[in-house]
Parts: sequence; structure tokens; C-alpha cells
Amino acid sequence: MLNDQLLIEEEYPVKAIAFSIEQAVDYKMEILNGFKKKRARLIIRLHLFILALKNYRSVNKAYKVLQQLYTFKNTLLGGSDTKIVQVNGKYYHDIYAPGFPSKAFNDYVEAEFHRILPIAKKANPLTFIFFAITKKCPLQCEHCFEWDNLNKKESLTLSDLQAVTKKFQDDGLAQIHFSGGEPMVRIKDLVELINTADKKSEFYVLTSGYNFTLANAKALKNAGVTGVVISLDHFDAEKHNAFRGFKDCYNDVLQAIKNAQQQNLVVAVSICVTKSFITWHNLLKYAELVKSLKVPFIQLLEPKAVGHYKGKDVFLNETHFSILEKFYQTLNFDPAYKDYPVIIYHGYHQRRVGCLSGGDRNLYIDSDGYVNACPFCHTKNFNIKEALANGTNVQASVKASGCQSY
Ligand code: SF4
Repeated sequence: MLNDQLLIEEEYPVKAIAFSIEQAVDYKMEILNGFKKKRARLIIRLHLFILALKNYRSVNKAYKVLQQLYTFKNTLLGGSDTKIVQVNGKYYHDIYAPGFPSKAFNDYVEAEFHRILPIAKKANPLTFIFFAITKKCPLQCEHCFEWDNLNKKESLTLSDLQAVTKKFQDDGLAQIHFSGGEPMVRIKDLVELINTADKKSEFYVLTSGYNFTLANAKALKNAGVTGVVISLDHFDAEKHNAFRGFKDCYNDVLQAIKNAQQQNLVVAVSICVTKSFITWHNLLKYAELVKSLKVPFIQLLEPKAVGHYKGKDVFLNETHFSILEKFYQTLNFDPAYKDYPVIIYHGYHQRRVGCLSGGDRNLYIDSDGYVNACPFCHTKNFNIKEALANGTNVQASVKASGCQSY
């Protein structure tokens, strides 16, 4: 662990690039409102219509498919007037949908078309995968779902990581979200992995903020990373550090946010919303902090009794769900909160349209290479290395056993 850290600092001269948290960052991000939002929506809708027309060669079919797509999206998200965030020239409404315009966006939309009415070209049903690229992590988070695998010998070599990435990219996957352990501990391989990957997909890094230095953020950006999801589990520094079992974690988070913004990455923060945290006051205070940090996305994760939480009474009840859903609806659709971050809440979607994981639109490959329904449902269906060697249809095989919870 120590050797890795020294290697990281040698490889990327962290101290040479001094960076103060207070220093203003020229982050090219805007949550669009008024005319800018209307114009962006119109451009995207026109593009979707042309894309549908190209695929179906019929105005009638294109129109019908788009109507069904909008209906699904409105049910999934709980409304039609979703926020649009512009980062570095591209439009985003979610971190799990690729930015527009891009090839990844087209691939993602065509896969959705294909579900409604088959298209002629090959479409990958998977939108994204979570891929744990390391078992190493210096933190000890309360809710860690990879707890049983942490800090053991690595199972996946760089070549394994590259082979898996290539396989999913060849199938037309729009996004890969790299997790761990703490993926920034394996920064050298992570940069190499993204550098050698095809640039048609988007790449996100899921981090605690550890080792997300300016130099490393720059190396990731240059390699082709789109965005970063940084865990921030409380607005109170001491409570966040206690939850994460790491004393300087809160400062790491603030610094990581600034470093990512300096590189104009899409930035999201992710919070495990525990029973003790969920009050309207706490959620709003958290949103105020994130807004002040100019972070455009907040992801809410419900605690599950897996990993470090195994056997613990962490599941939320109906009262918690209703507070979280009200928070989701209010911040995303109430005009009084138009300048607040977009809330991403998987539980909200799952309770309305069913689970999109379990091989339906995404899946999880753990740090041993086992393919799982999602990071929280440890189904360990099969090992990805064997699946690649045998030519297994990974998506179909995982989907056959589906999601355990929804
Ligand atoms: S949740 Fe992530 S950061 Fe926390 S201990 Fe687990 S792997 Fe490390």
C-alpha cells in the first residue's frame, strides 16, 4: 500500500502543482434555465428525430418510437421538464446517460429505440457497467459493499482490465464506471487502461477523493475520462470522516471536486442516505453545500445489508422513502430549486419501472472478476475471464437470473 502511494507520487509530481481549495476554478458548467434550456431541449429533440428517421426510414415509425421513449423517460424520471446541465460544451441530464452530442449518446439512444421497435444495426442492451478495477483501499467505510474483498491480492491484471473493457466496447457499451476498492490507488493502470481504450465510450471514476490530485485529474482527463463520482456522506466534516473511517477524507473530497472541476470533468457527489441522516433539514443542508461547491449532480444511494453492513438493520422504511422521493421531486422539478443540483435516485426509478440493473441495462463486475447483478446484489453469476474465453453472452446470462430485489 505504502509502496503504491510512493509510486503514485513519483509518477505524477503531486507536490509540484500547488492547489488551494479556496482558489477559484473556472469550471465550464451551467445548470440551464430559460431560453438556454429550451434551445438545448429543442436541439436534442431534433437530433433524436433525425436519428429515429435514419434508423426506421419512416416518419410514422420514428414519431411513434419517440413518443414511447418520452413516455418511458417521463415515468422513469417522474416528470418531463428535467434539468439540463451543460459541462464543457455537452448537455447532460444524468451521469448514467451519455453527454450530447457524442457517439456514446447515439449508441445509448439507439439501444433504447431497439427495445421499443428493433433497428437494423447492432444495439447493445447494456448502457453501462460498473467495473471494480482494484481491491486496494485505505478507507474503512461503514457501508462498503466490497468489504470482504478489500486489500487482498489483485485478481485482475492490467491486461485483464483491458480485455474486459475492449469486450464491452466492441459490443457497443456507452459508458464504463470504474470503481474498486479505491480506483485512484491504481491510478497508473487506470490511466493506461483508459488511454488504450477506444474513445467511443464515456468513462467515469468512482472515488472517495483519495489521491484525486490535480496531476492525477489531469492525467485522467488527458486519457479520456468524462466524469467523476465522489463520495460525500455528510455535510459535517467529522461525521463524513467517521462514516468513511479516514481522518482527512472530507478535505480530500473538497480538493478532488476542485481538481475535477479544473479539468472540466462532469462532477457528481454520492451519498449513502442512512436512517440517521434522512431528515428534510439534513437533505436540504447537504444540497446547499453541494450547490455552493458548484457540483451539478447528487446521487442518493440507499444502504443495503451487504459487505460491511452485512447482518445490520440498515434497510430504509416507507417514511424514509417518502422523504427521499419528496426531496428528489422538489429539487428536480420545483422551479424554486432550478439552480440546485440534479438529484439521481435509483430507488425512485426502481419503484416505478423495475430494476434497470441485473443485466437489463447495467451490471457489475467485482474486483475478483465476478459478474453480479449490481454492486449491491452479489449474485456472482460467473467470472468474466471465463466468460470471455468461452464466448458467453454476458448480458443475457446475467439477465436470465435478473434482479433479486425489485
Ligand atoms: S466504500 Fe469504497 S472507499 Fe469505502 S472502504 Fe469500500 S472501497 Fe474503500
